[in-house]
Amino acid sequence: MAKLYYRYSAMNAGKSTLAMQVAHNYEEKGGSILVWKPKIDTKGDNTIVSRIGLSREVDALLNEFASPIEILKEEQKNKQIDAIIIDEAQFLTEEQVNELYYISKKMDISILCYGLRCDFRMKPFPGSQRLLAIADSIEEIKTLCECKKRKATQNLRCINGIPTFEGSQVAIDGEDNITYKSVCGECFIKYYLEWKNNKPLTRERKK
Ligand SMILES: [Zn+2]
Repeated sequence: MAKLYYRYSAMNAGKSTLAMQVAHNYEEKGGSILVWKPKIDTKGDNTIVSRIGLSREVDALLNEFASPIEILKEEQKNKQIDAIIIDEAQFLTEEQVNELYYISKKMDISILCYGLRCDFRMKPFPGSQRLLAIADSIEEIKTLCECKKRKATQNLRCINGIPTFEGSQVAIDGEDNITYKSVCGECFIKYYLEWKNNKPLTRERKK
């Protein structure tokens, strides 16, 4: 039977590259796939972009109200679908992940989701929380921290290159001077303490 897969990692571990490689592997063997991405990820518009230069147009951008089952049924009118590959799956809603589970079990189509585990404050995204709870197969894609001592497990948000630990959950890499670094837990705590100790008092009082 088909499975719902979640392959997660910190940022910049090559998730999009892997997603495109898997898509290529399916197609090389004559498989028919769909590639989706949540619409909230504005990076690359309607394409998946990897840092090593690969890109691929998606078959659908899912807004928060989109129904994976309905989109799939439309696509199935034209062709048989063997698998669905979803990048930035942390941005899916809980209901969308529930539908993906249904698709894998009742429609026998494998779903391969790629995404983050948690945000820059170590809090889960709705999509990743649900995927980690119900996916049939959960696999970590490993990458190295900048300290080169340990694997990166956390996402450090920087504004103009300076780490920050406040702000909205979703802020896309490369927009509004925001960038991300993937770091190990030890480095994450080190940056957090530096930020906390250097925080201007005015910001403390607002809370
Ligand atoms: Zn480190």
